[in-house]
Amino acid sequence: MDKKPKIVILGAGYGGMMTATRLLKANVHQDAEITLVNKHNYHYQTTWLHEPAAGTLHHDKTRMRIENVLDLNKIDFVKDAVKEIKTEDKKVILEGGELDYDYLVIGLGSEPETFGIPGVKEHAYSIRSVNSVRQIREHIEYMFASYNNEVEKHEDKLTFVVAGAGFTGIEFVGELSERIPELCEEYDIARDKVKIYSVEAAPTALPGFDEELVEYAMNLLESRGVEFLIETPIKEVKEDGVLLNDGSEIKSRTVVWTTGVRGSSVVENSGFETMRGRVKVEKDLRAPGYDDVFIIGDCALIINEEINRPYPPTAQIAIQQSYTCANNLKSLIQGKEEHLETFKPEIKGTVASLGGKEAIGIVGERKLYGGSASAMKKIIDNRYLYLLGGMPLVLKKGKLNIF
Ligand code: FAD
Ligand code: NAD
Repeated sequence: MDKKPKIVILGAGYGGMMTATRLLKANVHQDAEITLVNKHNYHYQTTWLHEPAAGTLHHDKTRMRIENVLDLNKIDFVKDAVKEIKTEDKKVILEGGELDYDYLVIGLGSEPETFGIPGVKEHAYSIRSVNSVRQIREHIEYMFASYNNEVEKHEDKLTFVVAGAGFTGIEFVGELSERIPELCEEYDIARDKVKIYSVEAAPTALPGFDEELVEYAMNLLESRGVEFLIETPIKEVKEDGVLLNDGSEIKSRTVVWTTGVRGSSVVENSGFETMRGRVKVEKDLRAPGYDDVFIIGDCALIINEEINRPYPPTAQIAIQQSYTCANNLKSLIQGKEEHLETFKPEIKGTVASLGGKEAIGIVGERKLYGGSASAMKKIIDNRYLYLLGGMPLVLKKGKLNIF
């Protein structure tokens, strides 16, 4: 009997997990050996990470063990970190070994974009993984816990700077503004001692988003004590705060960097042609020049031809890509190259949480505010869990308190 072809999926994020799920649903494991590689033994929901970062949700709620979601009798799981992809040898180099592949799916997600700004890597925190957000939550609590224990008070301990008022920055500020009053109460600190700055380079928060919704979000967050510094690029991050473009400084022990993302450096360092770490993939999601490599999620770049600009990297797109990717892998395994599908994103909308029971969003043509937007956000979150693991996963990990 011929050996089965090997499909290797790198990254158990939205793209990787859903590709694996779709391959199993289509019984591709009967005709191919499927291996999923991830650096943790759990899958986490990147889209929820602003909550555990602020401490409004326990991080365990955002993650699930891979063995509890995928049938490991049908798919191999390798817990290891990918170091490099050697396309000419069809090999993946891991920290603890290597793997051969016939078909590769790259879904390694993103890394924070620093734009080369000095001090970001050394002094700022980022919202990118369970490990990173657990550290942010612990650090914030420590700032509160230590403040009253010093004879000479350090106000910079109670000053929080969030760099970038894009969706991640705004969602985090929303959670933080909900969490601060609790921390003030717990550590006997007056609320007016605490400062939260949302610092944005562009002329508005959430650049490009609906103006009315942006105004709603800003008014709400300001009412919770957030101070916006708009059209104020951060030039440098220092050990004791940030330096702004106009030369002024904000003293702070906590700078959370949310100025956008770039694709995984593994892709860039493996010889693929990239733009901000993302590969402009072919219509069937393969990397140009590589018939055996699919790239999905935040590592892939897709142009919105209506405006001739890249689609922003989102879970929504990563999930949709996983369907096309799995179907195309199935066609290739069956030797039916003529059946390869073209990927077309179907953008259903954007909903961003603002903490508590508040959110903003556009779904189809409808603008949503407040409670209805917040309910919609939870429905979207639950829908993903349903696609991944059906009703049992929704009941275990979902946001059931919708209204
Ligand atoms: P990810 O889901 O990030 O998964 C990548 C996986 O690869 C991870 O499991 C990681 O551990 C693993 N990995 C990385 N490097 C290695 C390595 N070297 N070796 C082994 N494994 C590795 N998008 C939306 O559509 N809607 C939202 O509401 C939304 N909210 C967001 C909120 C926040 C706070 C953030 C940060 C992002 C949000 N996004 C949202 C964007 C969305 O999270 C990403 O676009 C999405 O996660 C991309 O999916 P992915 O599969 O490419 O990568
Ligand atoms: P982003 O690119 O959406 O926003 C980054 C912001 O940082 C921009 O507004 C930019 O002007 C600003 N910025 C850049 N350099 C700066 C500087 N030096 N000083 C101050 N501000 C600076 O990136 P993000 O918010 O990290 O989001 C990453 C991706 O995830 C995006 O595609 C986003 O759409 C997606 N996302 C979606 C949701 C949602 O749908 N609810 C939530 C979070 C993230």
